Amino acid sequence: ATMPPLLAAIANAGRHGVLVKSAVAMEQLGAVTVVAVDKTGTLTEGRPHLVAGDDEVLALAAAVEVWSEHPVAAAIVTAAGERGLRPAAAREFRATPGVGVTGVVGGRRVSVVAAPDSATGGRTAVAVEVDGTRVGVLLLADRVRPSSAAAVAGLHAVVGAPPVLLSGDNPEAARRVAAEVGIHDARGGLLPHDKADAVTALRREGQRVLFVGDGVNDAPAMATADAGIAVGRRGSDLTVETADAVVLRDDLEAVPAVVALARRARRLVV
Ligand code: ADP
Ligand code: MG
Repeated sequence: ATMPPLLAAIANAGRHGVLVKSAVAMEQLGAVTVVAVDKTGTLTEGRPHLVAGDDEVLALAAAVEVWSEHPVAAAIVTAAGERGLRPAAAREFRATPGVGVTGVVGGRRVSVVAAPDSATGGRTAVAVEVDGTRVGVLLLADRVRPSSAAAVAGLHAVVGAPPVLLSGDNPEAARRVAAEVGIHDARGGLLPHDKADAVTALRREGQRVLFVGDGVNDAPAMATADAGIAVGRRGSDLTVETADAVVLRDDLEAVPAVVALARRARRLVV
């Protein structure tokens, strides 16, 4: 017997290292008219490194970030270690996706939060606050994945519309990465529900939206979109669960190929 087209496409996607969860998911991937992508950990490697920040500010931030799974947190904890700082771990840790983290260090409330207002030169900026007062800013940089520019061009060609970038990072950082990968419509400073609202706005225009992302901050947008692809083995559990497909390799190379497969399979069954 020959395999039904959508199942054959699932097998084929698997050979590209992409797990498509069902025939329905494959069909939805084949129907999209525009693609929205996340920046950090999706277009970029999601392994930022610290490029600026004072020891004292860094030590405070690291005390809180030891409890966080965000890539920014890993960069801060690593940098503190490299400088020989030995911060005590904070108590009463709390994380707010897309915003930052907070905890109690030596009786003071220390928060590390997005600083969209800072002059960042396209870097990720986080402000460190003690009892609500800003004591410094840390700047971080992340590398664009080598496969991102080709994936953006490929998605544009396959879907027939230019991809848009939806980022929780500051607008300058969003535009910098967008320019590097060939995206003209880049929006930054978005909270998780803002990303979802941007997807809703596209759907109201009659678009069928594919959202491609990796973080827990992307889950609402992915749930709102017509289709979702989670990127990378290190993608957040919630986002992997919400997605229609999961890229098991740590790059975007296969994404346009899988959307093309989905479109061909869909034409054979619809
Ligand atoms: P993106 O949409 O680019 O993947 P996120 O929504 O994960 O970014 O995060 C948006 C911004 O929120 C980050 O650029 C950072 O400024 C801030 N942020 C999120 N989590 C943390 C954290 N653990 N520590 C410091 N800042 C954080
Ligand atoms: Mg991300």
